[in-house]
Amino acid sequence: MKLDGRKLRVGPFTVRIWADKDAESAAAAAGASGAWLGDELRILIDRRSAPPRQLATLLHEAMHGLWEDTPLDKQYTDEQEEAIILTLERGLVQVLRDNPWFVDALLEAE
Ligand SMILES: [Zn+2]
Repeated sequence: MKLDGRKLRVGPFTVRIWADKDAESAAAAAGASGAWLGDELRILIDRRSAPPRQLATLLHEAMHGLWEDTPLDKQYTDEQEEAIILTLERGLVQVLRDNPWFVDALLEAE
């Protein structure tokens, strides 16, 4: 699935996914496979990662967006934030992947 240019609703914002060749360079420079760029309302995804990894990173960066400007942002250090979000990313990806009926039910409940 091509992510570049897609939009994602994250809290009150619609953010654009940035996963083109320039994003590869930015990710390499940052030493990361993704980044939440809140000021620009963009999420950087390194398209060199395997597709399942890109999607997990997208969820991870969206959670950074949900975290930003909340009381949690002041309560925890950046290192603690990263550990919490990484833990939730792994767990949520597993729960959503292994229980497609649950995802369907969430969508149908709308
Ligand atoms: Zn992170």
